[in-house]
Amino acid sequence: MFSQLPTDVRAFQDWSWAQIAPYYADLAARPLTAGSLEAWLADWTRLSFLIYETGARRHLAHTQDTTDAVAEAAFFRYLDEIRPPAATAEQELKLKLLASGLSLEGLAVPLRNLKAEADLFRDVNLPLLVEESKLGSRYDKIIGAQTVEWEGKEIPLPQLRPVLAGTDRARREAAWQLMSRRRLADRSALNDLWRELHALRQRIAANAGHPDYRSYIWQAKQRFDYTPADCATFHDAIEAVCVPAATRIYDRRSRMLGLPALRPWDLTNGEFSRPADMPGTQPLKPYRDGGELLDKSAAILDKVDPSLGGQYRTMIAEGLLDAENRKGKAPGGYCTYFPVAKRPFIFMNAVGLHDDVQTMLHEAGHAFHAFASSDLPFAPQLESPMEFNEVASMAMELLAAPYLTADHGGFYDVGGAARARIEHLESTILFWPYMAVVDAFQQWAYTHPEGAEPDACDAQWRALVQRFIPAIDFDGLDDVMATGWHRKLHIFNVPFYYVEYGLAQLGAAQVWRNSLTDHPRAVADYRSALRLGGTATLPQLFATAGARFAFDAGTLGEAVGLIERTVTELGAVA
Ligand SMILES: [Zn+2]
Repeated sequence: MFSQLPTDVRAFQDWSWAQIAPYYADLAARPLTAGSLEAWLADWTRLSFLIYETGARRHLAHTQDTTDAVAEAAFFRYLDEIRPPAATAEQELKLKLLASGLSLEGLAVPLRNLKAEADLFRDVNLPLLVEESKLGSRYDKIIGAQTVEWEGKEIPLPQLRPVLAGTDRARREAAWQLMSRRRLADRSALNDLWRELHALRQRIAANAGHPDYRSYIWQAKQRFDYTPADCATFHDAIEAVCVPAATRIYDRRSRMLGLPALRPWDLTNGEFSRPADMPGTQPLKPYRDGGELLDKSAAILDKVDPSLGGQYRTMIAEGLLDAENRKGKAPGGYCTYFPVAKRPFIFMNAVGLHDDVQTMLHEAGHAFHAFASSDLPFAPQLESPMEFNEVASMAMELLAAPYLTADHGGFYDVGGAARARIEHLESTILFWPYMAVVDAFQQWAYTHPEGAEPDACDAQWRALVQRFIPAIDFDGLDDVMATGWHRKLHIFNVPFYYVEYGLAQLGAAQVWRNSLTDHPRAVADYRSALRLGGTATLPQLFATAGARFAFDAGTLGEAVGLIERTVTELGAVA
């Protein structure tokens, strides 16, 4: 036992690497036997939790106030001085554990993952992976520098988003055209970047003994429970089920607008999303301030399950929520975890919109996952797969939706709640086809030599958009349409990370379906699955949650049918 190691992160967070290193050296030197394994794992867990929580708290403090130089310096010091040597030391312990051939109950899946990670490791790839993240920053720089002059002011493209989501069609088109022309100006810079990235990734794969980068990434992302062929089945199912449903949503709106078809500027993100509201529609106003957002969210979560509501109230009482947008705060929303304190923390930028309610319920699902798995004894058991992590969050959005009305303590009258739920459910249907475009594109790009060639990429993207998003009229806008892959950050910076959302959404829809016939049972199953953390395979996690880990048109069709019926019912009261 590490008797000198602090039990509270506050006593640990200022430790230098020189103070930490002897603890790793001790673990590396200690003989590992069946008799000593449990104590060894417990000590390793204590040490790595302290380091992890230090990093999580410093990152949080930095994002809570990016203008705080002291917080920034502390976070950067952690990144520069603690994280790299800790990663090396952690790797050494993982290899030691694998070499021992020992295991314990609840460790089989984590050991399988560790082995895959160790098998993939190549010294020669280390500089290439650094090169890859530098190319990623080049993408961020190119995109971040995109500005336009709008109504006399020079603004970055994301600031046009409210215009695209607005109800004035002429303004939407003007903003969309301006934005698209600006993006096309970077076409050759992004094409050059893609050629470099593509070649680099194929080299990384070859160095690790893989025939192509898709094969490499399958192992790197530890996708043991499904194959590229399963993803192709999923794409076919989406084409058969979601594309017609999405077309029905788009056709309904084009009829209301008196148009033969929707143009890209009729969609809130100018690409594939929900259509912008009809003229004259006022945006939903769910709450006045952050306090009201927290209180009403707590009331809703109580209705989902009193003990989950209790966990959320614990977060309020202990100051584990930073919800409201303010100057200096980093953008976005996330849920982080403090494993020593066994507490999650939710960070977001609420500004008074329904999106904030949706984000809060989503992040609350991640927080419940953290609470539920916090009693697993060993650090590697907490690493649950992304395909399931998003079931925890997306299912919570759906489970909480029936309680959005004021009579349950929620945010809206009956009509407002119906409108919010329709928006959410329609967005779910519309996301799957776009997800299929992004996933199918990447699968093609790394398994065909012409995937390195931007012209071929344009042709492939165009064909995929025509297959999966056929209802949107891109007539005369071919250059913009065909370069859609330039606009997807994941393709450049987080390769292959996308199908996870689609698979998780299908799991979440099944949890929700179960709740409609037996709410307490569905929530109990959901919570049982969350408790497993990373100790079970994806099919086991889904099954425990009462769902199938599925790719087929039958399962997807059932989910989409339920969503469409619900939208129709809600439409009658909205
Ligand atoms: Zn999430």
